[in-house]
Amino acid sequence: MTVSAHGLDTTSGLTTAEAARLLAAHGPNEVGADRRVPLWARVAAQLRDPLIMVLLAAVALTLAIGDHPDAVVIALVIVVNTIVGVVQEVRAESAVAALSRLSAPAARVLRDGEQRRVPSTEVVPGDVVALAEGDIVPADARLTEAAALLVDESMLTGESLPVAKAVQPRQKADGVVQAGTVVLRGRALAVVTATGADSALGRIAALLRPRPEPTPLQRRLAGLGRVLAAAAVGLCALVFVLGLLRHQPPGEMGVTAISLAVAAVPESLPAVVTLALALGARRMAARHAVVRRLPAVETLGSVTVLATDKTGTLTQGRMVVERLWTPHSTATLTGLGYGPEGRILLDGAADDETRDLLTTAALCNDAALRPPTGEDGEWGALGDPTEAALLTASGKAGLDYERLREAFPRVAEAPFDSVRRRMSTVHRTPGGGLLVCLKGAPEAVLAPAVLAEPPELLEKTRRAAAELAAEGFRVLAVARRNLDRLPDPPEDAETALRLLGLTALADPPKPSAAATLAACRRAGIVPILVTGDHPATARALAVRVGLLEPTAGPGAVVGGQSLAVTDLAHARVFARTDPRQKLDIVQAWRARGAVTAMTGDGVNDGPALRQADIGVAMGRRGTEVARQAADLVLADDELATVVSAVEEGRRVYDNIRRFLVYGLAGGAAEILVMLAGPLFGLALPLRAGQILWINLLTHGLTGVAMGAEPVSPGAMARPPRPPHQHILGSGVWQRVLLLGLVLAAAALGAAIWARHGERPWQTVLFLALLAAQLGTVLGLRERLLNRANLFLPAAVLASAALAAGALYLPFLRDVLDTVPLTWGDLAAPAVAGLAGFVAARLRKRGI
Ligand code: ADP
Ligand code: MG
Repeated sequence: MTVSAHGLDTTSGLTTAEAARLLAAHGPNEVGADRRVPLWARVAAQLRDPLIMVLLAAVALTLAIGDHPDAVVIALVIVVNTIVGVVQEVRAESAVAALSRLSAPAARVLRDGEQRRVPSTEVVPGDVVALAEGDIVPADARLTEAAALLVDESMLTGESLPVAKAVQPRQKADGVVQAGTVVLRGRALAVVTATGADSALGRIAALLRPRPEPTPLQRRLAGLGRVLAAAAVGLCALVFVLGLLRHQPPGEMGVTAISLAVAAVPESLPAVVTLALALGARRMAARHAVVRRLPAVETLGSVTVLATDKTGTLTQGRMVVERLWTPHSTATLTGLGYGPEGRILLDGAADDETRDLLTTAALCNDAALRPPTGEDGEWGALGDPTEAALLTASGKAGLDYERLREAFPRVAEAPFDSVRRRMSTVHRTPGGGLLVCLKGAPEAVLAPAVLAEPPELLEKTRRAAAELAAEGFRVLAVARRNLDRLPDPPEDAETALRLLGLTALADPPKPSAAATLAACRRAGIVPILVTGDHPATARALAVRVGLLEPTAGPGAVVGGQSLAVTDLAHARVFARTDPRQKLDIVQAWRARGAVTAMTGDGVNDGPALRQADIGVAMGRRGTEVARQAADLVLADDELATVVSAVEEGRRVYDNIRRFLVYGLAGGAAEILVMLAGPLFGLALPLRAGQILWINLLTHGLTGVAMGAEPVSPGAMARPPRPPHQHILGSGVWQRVLLLGLVLAAAALGAAIWARHGERPWQTVLFLALLAAQLGTVLGLRERLLNRANLFLPAAVLASAALAAGALYLPFLRDVLDTVPLTWGDLAAPAVAGLAGFVAARLRKRGI
């Protein structure tokens, strides 16, 4: 929708009421919202499953041979399977939808005269949006105010060079910004002209909606499912042929074999996996870790390397200037936080030098200080914490940064970025001349190309900077010069400056940082630090939070230039890196087979976040670009949340493996019973209906309940599983076979005992096989008596009740061909249940 001339007021924006009206008129700002899948389509999809088709064939067969009870049971199985399948699918989808709402893009708009963060879908034509570095433009808009705005339009045009934008009198291409493009730097206000399908993004919408792909685990399990199905069908064919050789009626044998095949294949496996992943993601969200792609849930459990940034992640990101250094003096500053309380204690008589230093640092500065509000009673920083700290320091010298900025209006700037590591601003002086103010990392400033200073002074300053960095300070060098005319581009003003001095900022580590890194290491995850800061600063912090031993050799810290791939295995701290090198670091670790999680929040971090197995963005501090490139968004900005997410990931994987052990061992036992039974004189051990009833009670109820088992106490004290480990690897295979043997032996033993005692052996066998499997469910629990997943004991009880129903409800008895058992008869199934429990208990660790 294009906006007509609304007579817009770009200082107050729309009112809430107007915005609501426009939203109703134009619809939400989104493209190609998901269509809902109708119920019949879901049911049809379930019925297309090959197993169900086999069952449908079996219904036809049973009806043809007049076996009506079995037809009823098989039909019941089809109905229950379909219902369970559809319900699980819908549950999984709604869990995923809820997650994507949590991580939906947001925009800052002016409403009722103040800036508000709203979901991008609620942006309407006529809204005034505020854009800053790292924002994704939420809708097509015309600029009304712009400062040094640089936009990346490659996602729309394929053009990789950033485009400069400025306010234009008419709708010219460089006066408008388009939905989906990224602000690389600068700031702007813009009036929205088109949203949703009318926007540039809407016009290319088809490109943007990738189909959700199955996760690696789902794919691997699908392959496994096919192999198992083939094996089961082969074995069931064997059962069928052997039955015919013993002169069983072919029709009945056919139905039995089909039912056996259906029972032996864990057909609910895909549903269990999807649901386990979706529920895992939901639990992660409750612990502030918002997963943006479902595969990340399983990958998280196998993370081996955690690459974290420094400022604000390991440190508090609340900076204080503690030292000043000028060529003729040093000074120490007192006071905590961003408040103006505190003094400057000079060591040496160069008051005017420190004043010049701080004046320049306050001018070359985009931050602001926020006076204490009612809530916390503390001064706050708006904008870059580094710059805010410099404002506080200038306040301690008696300077007022707001008055300074009025007296020296800014006429040009070359913004800070993490590649150049310096910034400069040009101001008009009250006398009419120009003043260039520059600050940046010492290496980026203390160079003959930038400063017109004698080499001895440069050398002396470098030494001072290195000493401060080794003490853990973040060091910035400050310089300035006077000028008559503005060069073009403004970067050209960054030469022949005069050095004013150094500022040293402290950024204390977060109290939780050391514990978080220790937890990582206990879980076999190697933490590494990747920062743009000086190697000595980074090293000092790494030692303080326990990431590095104080005695670690020089190879443990590498700086940007010497980032040779050979150093990787030993290096734990990567300093002076730029975003491009972050990408190299991730790639190098991945090439060594590591599964990497990497934090990032900057506008340039997108590629590295995407490249990492798990890209982690900060929900509050991070830019929109980083959030949308990440797999995991930390709603609370806490590194510890990554560790919680890893724990949930391991839990999901363990539970899936547990379900596999249970489901496959049960299926193996059913086939073994049918194959071996006749050898012990049990002609046709189980009827088709009985097999399917067992299948329903074991795979249906209890199997799903296993997906919610709590995390095992040792999960974060063992190393991550090898990334390429097979889902049945490390002993699971053998365990399945052994357990299957025990279950089959227990059930057959019960039946043989019953047959010798002239008891109804088939019903005893039916109940014993069920009991043995239910015993396994309980035995497989990590901690038998825990109240974390009451669903599981409840499911076991319900299954037991339904098993009793099969014996004591006349209707079910007819259908399933069972007889009621006496207390004496029940002894054998009870023993089988115990055997299943004990066998599962024997090796409970390391599912
Ligand atoms: P990190 O976020 O890992 O601490 P940055 O890339 O933000 O690293 O900063 C790298 C270096 O650039 C800092 O050590 C500091 O010297 C310098 N620097 C940081 N912020 C600014 C700024 N706003 N203006 C000038 N220089 C800066
Ligand atoms: Mg930074």
